[in-house]
Amino acid sequence: MEEDVDVKPLSVATAPPFPTVIAPKRRYGTRDEFEDWTGPSRRKKAKKSKNAVQDEDDDDNYDPATENLEWKQWARELETDIVKIGKCSRWGDDDMEEDQPKKKVLAQHETPSELVFPLLPFQGEFLTWSLSREESNMRGGVLADEMGMGKTIQAISLIIAGRTAGHGHDPNAPDAKNLNTTLVVCPVVAIEQWKSEIERFTKEGTLKVLIYHGNRKHITVKELAKHDVVLTTYSIIEHDYRKILPDKLSAAKDDFSLLHSVKWVRIILDEAHTIKDRASNTAKSVFALQSCYKWGLSGTPLQNRVGELYSLVRYLEINPYAYFFCKKCDCKSLEYSATMCDKCEHASTLHFCWWNKVSFACGKSMKLLRQKLLDEMLLRRTKIERAADLSMPPKLSFVRKVVFDAKEDDYYQSLYSQSKSVFNTYVKEGSVLNNYGHIFDLLTRLRQAVDHPYLVVHSATGASGNLLSEGSEDTKIACPRCETPLTVDAKSSKVVGKKLTGYRKGSIINRLDLNDFVTSTKIEALKEEVKKMISKDTSAKGLVFSQFTSMLDLIGYSFELAGVKCVKLDGGMSLSQRSTAIDTFRNDPECKLFLMSLKAGGVALNLTVASYIFLMDPWWNPAVEHQAQDRIHRIGQYKPIRVTRFVIENSVEERILKLQEKKQLVFEG
Ligand SMILES: [Zn+2]
Ligand SMILES: [Zn+2]
Repeated sequence: MEEDVDVKPLSVATAPPFPTVIAPKRRYGTRDEFEDWTGPSRRKKAKKSKNAVQDEDDDDNYDPATENLEWKQWARELETDIVKIGKCSRWGDDDMEEDQPKKKVLAQHETPSELVFPLLPFQGEFLTWSLSREESNMRGGVLADEMGMGKTIQAISLIIAGRTAGHGHDPNAPDAKNLNTTLVVCPVVAIEQWKSEIERFTKEGTLKVLIYHGNRKHITVKELAKHDVVLTTYSIIEHDYRKILPDKLSAAKDDFSLLHSVKWVRIILDEAHTIKDRASNTAKSVFALQSCYKWGLSGTPLQNRVGELYSLVRYLEINPYAYFFCKKCDCKSLEYSATMCDKCEHASTLHFCWWNKVSFACGKSMKLLRQKLLDEMLLRRTKIERAADLSMPPKLSFVRKVVFDAKEDDYYQSLYSQSKSVFNTYVKEGSVLNNYGHIFDLLTRLRQAVDHPYLVVHSATGASGNLLSEGSEDTKIACPRCETPLTVDAKSSKVVGKKLTGYRKGSIINRLDLNDFVTSTKIEALKEEVKKMISKDTSAKGLVFSQFTSMLDLIGYSFELAGVKCVKLDGGMSLSQRSTAIDTFRNDPECKLFLMSLKAGGVALNLTVASYIFLMDPWWNPAVEHQAQDRIHRIGQYKPIRVTRFVIENSVEERILKLQEKKQLVFEG
């Protein structure tokens, strides 16, 4: 589905996010869930193994030979803590109140003189905390402030203050590969932004910045060493890591990764939840980087399961939580070997990690996790908590309900009844589950039809695909806008009008006869709202989000006709195209709208120059919509935010809204 930008299968999209880091629901913490990221449990594995280990459950027995091993001492310490915590109780029980995380009381570090703006009080507190983390055994941590609270500026202040405090490599063990450079890893959309924030927030010459992206063959260790900050992306790290993978099939000529060949003073992962799957190549390539200190920045360190935290713990190499311990000897390792341990002579089934020993379904384990680990490694503040520091303008939300015109309604209703009859057939056959993908397609088409019938009729595959294979000849329906019948492949039947620049090759615009171009009810409603916006405040700008890139193209073309300047951000754009678009939007007073898909623009973009948001189609998951809003509801925003969502009455969208309300309860409860 080329059109379909952000849609995920229902099962994924409907998984509700955690309300906060600290209050997971019971069903996320089952043992089974942990097994898929910590490897099979010892019991299962031992049963499968031919040379089954006999003493698989003996770790509580007294054994003088292992009594002084680190893990046993640690286990005893945990026992004591568990007794202290008291009876096992589940989340949501009456002990909720005492479960509230205790707030850290932190002194406020003064703003480093190299910064141009003073730090806000909570940002100064981070500086105190982060410097103390670097001086502790943790040697790093996670800044998990809610989105829009200035995590970047806080990280920049740490780089500067850490240098002033003399944080760095052990002077007694000099090594040519030690660099006093901080490596920042971020999504590609954020790379230019990091550079410009460093320039904007620090006095000239404070930090020398190098972008390690694109053409980088000429860059040497010497070159890296000349800079204070090197900016790169997760995909570069992953790409370069492939060259040095231990199990690589063939050794190519350049099996060398510059970023992995040095020891950085500090690594900062922006949007650190990118590595939440510890088995992914992205995570592995990041784990392989070396540094004195390691940091993660993430507004959502925990999206679905407690297990996702393990990856951050592993990245930070927190002792003992990140390690696999051997029950028989003092071996401990960050990796779980396949059958026999690489480091000692014992079977890998004799090795365990804390994360697959405990059950997080049990309240006391969660408390332990929080008190012993999260409180130490993670700092999280919310905008509401620190509203006084932030003095953020209010956010107003509106739902604009619109009604189809008669033709659109006819079209939608026939599409709907066709989809429904296909669905009913599956129900009768009992094959709903087998046809899950197809049903999802049908649903997506309905959602597209609500935006503009063109999205269905002129989709890249034509409309003759799945949808009508079940329908008979006489149920053919035509586009209410251009009368193109649904069963005809739109690509070949249409004479394309004047050629347009600025649209990518596969764009829907190139498949339309632009002489007959018509907008849709929804686009007209958007045009009205934008008109209102400009008449209220001539300097106002807005972001327009849709899940369908073709919808963005149709909107872009409609505004082009109306003489309103827009820029667009989609997944297929190069780094320089992106930064040109962002630059134009920020600096050109004529440019009023930024059209984007959440996939391309949903993360790590600071667009506070805009104060209006238009959401063209509802998402299954309300958290995703929040992410869109956080692009502009953040530090640096001085105007009240207005969020408008467009919903067509009596359509599939109203049902999605109902579903969202339910989830909102889960989200907030
Ligand atoms: Zn061993
Ligand atoms: Zn071992």
